[in-house]
Amino acid sequence: MPKTITIRPLCCGCMRVSESVPYGNDVNLKLSAHQIFARDEKRVVLPVYAFLIEHPQGRFLIDTGFPRELSPKGEYDPKAVSAMLPKHLAQFYRPWVPQGMAITEQLESLGLKPSDLDCVVLTHFDPDHIGGLKSLKGAKRDIVAEDEYFWTCRTVYRARQPQRFYQGVPMEHYWFKGSDVGPNRWAYDVLGDGTILTVNVPGHTDGMVSVLVTNGELLEHKHRFVLLTSDAAFTPRNWREMITPGFGFDPKLQRRGLEWIASQEKREGCLAVLTSHDPDLNPQPITIALA
Ligand SMILES: [Zn+2]
Repeated sequence: MPKTITIRPLCCGCMRVSESVPYGNDVNLKLSAHQIFARDEKRVVLPVYAFLIEHPQGRFLIDTGFPRELSPKGEYDPKAVSAMLPKHLAQFYRPWVPQGMAITEQLESLGLKPSDLDCVVLTHFDPDHIGGLKSLKGAKRDIVAEDEYFWTCRTVYRARQPQRFYQGVPMEHYWFKGSDVGPNRWAYDVLGDGTILTVNVPGHTDGMVSVLVTNGELLEHKHRFVLLTSDAAFTPRNWREMITPGFGFDPKLQRRGLEWIASQEKREGCLAVLTSHDPDLNPQPITIALA
């Protein structure tokens, strides 16, 4: 039997956000905070995806979606949301989690418990990516880039990334290493064999990572990979039309990230580029054969 890696997109909730969130271009947090509170007709509904990677060396979960607690009945519940998120974030996201879609429920439908996860990889600490973390108690490891963790605790990120979602959860922090991959040439090889790389793509936050899942082949013509962008892009339109998502910290860096994603999509071995918030994402599992 040939060995394979399977990547399963799992929709773990929805959010009704300002249209500047996916396509804000130069709408950034410093200049345009007021646009966070967009009127209803200026909002769009976006899905929130996590990704399960079934790998010969274990099960890896990329991000966690929103927690069930902010949507107890599976619908938008402003009271429950306000109990979990500070006012400005409750208004920013207007989130809900349809029944069966919280991360633990998604895993259960695959016959899995949190303790079946070998590693939860957090791309960054925004609530739509880390919100479900505490429901995954029992996962063997939770890992995050030190660059993300360091700034989250200490700076303006604190307002955007509430501590309640990660405080008290033992978490491994890793350092990026110099790499020939990514716009910043910083990456971390999770298994040491090149099959799961977290790649620093700064701009949305400083420490944010996209995740490259590969067959580990070094020869370009045999190399196959799937790129999970996290919030470096919200939909393919971002890199195809060079429109940066809004409310990042550095639109210039975001643009560099989009250029890198566009260059990856053009490579021969690219099987898919998937974002965390694409309403047109095909949720079918993708399989990569290992050499
Ligand atoms: Zn996001």
